[in-house]
Amino acid sequence: MRQNKIYEIDFNRPTIVGKELYYISQAIHNGYSAGDAAFTKKCHAFLEEALGVPKVLLTTSCTDALEMTALLLDIQPGDEVIVPSFTFVSTANAFALHGARPVFIDIRPDTLTLDERQLERLITPRTKAVVPVHYAGVGCEMEAIGEIAAQYNIAVVEDNAHGLFGKYQGRYLGTFGAFATQSFHETKNFICGEGGALLINDPQYIERAEIIREKGTNRSRFFRGQVDKYTWVDIGSSFLPSDILAAFLYAQLEARDEIQAKRRHIWHYYNEHLQEWARDQGVQLPTVPAHCEQSYHMFYMLLPSLEQRQALIDHLKGRGILSVFHYLPLHLSDMGRKFGGKAGDCPVTEEVSDRLLRLPFYNDLIEADQARVVEAIKEFEPPSPHLISLPLSLSQDKR
Ligand SMILES: *Cc1c(COP(=O)(O)O)cnc(C)c1O
Repeated sequence: MRQNKIYEIDFNRPTIVGKELYYISQAIHNGYSAGDAAFTKKCHAFLEEALGVPKVLLTTSCTDALEMTALLLDIQPGDEVIVPSFTFVSTANAFALHGARPVFIDIRPDTLTLDERQLERLITPRTKAVVPVHYAGVGCEMEAIGEIAAQYNIAVVEDNAHGLFGKYQGRYLGTFGAFATQSFHETKNFICGEGGALLINDPQYIERAEIIREKGTNRSRFFRGQVDKYTWVDIGSSFLPSDILAAFLYAQLEARDEIQAKRRHIWHYYNEHLQEWARDQGVQLPTVPAHCEQSYHMFYMLLPSLEQRQALIDHLKGRGILSVFHYLPLHLSDMGRKFGGKAGDCPVTEEVSDRLLRLPFYNDLIEADQARVVEAIKEFEPPSPHLISLPLSLSQDKR
């Protein structure tokens, strides 16, 4: 996407907050750079305390944390897992990897999160789990989702890659499901290059999660002195990150307030300065319901049409500004179609995917640059529809 073009205002720029390199050197000097050493423990304690979660385990990615939930829920071929079509691939793939059929659910047109009103009719006797994604860090309707899941006895796994420190009805995202998964990929609010975490809210899964994360061994119990040797006791894999990455992450987590304050400021700047223009142009800005505190993960706009969205991306590109779109509907992807997905299954997802545009958003984005982005947007003249011929490469296969 970036090719060789240098953008004056990039879309994302990973930001160091201060102590990352110092903590990394400490991790190395400590003599323990493998997983579960001092900084990993600090990250676990920080997140458990900040969120009030019984158990947090750092993982190598959010994808891996999701795969751990598939193992913990004993997902088998033929099982079904309900996932939004409008999400990153991993939300569905983690379960498909274990033979489950992803059942795609549409999103709400206001918050773009899983449409809980459609959940019940997608549940079958084979449904094992539902995976709400707190898109843009705005909570899904967890009350309704929790009630339906309890009624049908299906697990809730929150994909909270966007939503760390966001809240729903005053309660932290990631504390509602049996599990929640976090990402510390360099595009998220808190980063360590690549990384993630599994949040475990249902204590019955804690012991097995430790085993699965440690290659199927009871090594965690061994280190706590609960057994006198460790051995192979279950299936598992290697899901724990190096303490060097945990050191990087800990510096970021410690700067929680600073990072979130910067992102809050950036989000509100766009929202205020684009309000009037958006109203005039029929552009939809993000909806954050009063009972949700968002995590300020991104700022998106919904343009009136695909043609206008593409034209605005080009317009901004011409002014050295990189804006991007994302989430091609999963149910229309090559894999999604193999699972039976077809055009029309998730109409809101299909529409939003064509119209959504994300603006430059990173901790150190300065106000002067934001002002340039806003100015450039206001200079945009939407193309008149009859003059447009859409390049084939931009049209999705559903057309
Ligand atoms: C980024 C992201 C993931 C994957 O995170 P990784 O840490 O890169 O594996 C999963 N789900 C959503 C919604 C994401 O945005």
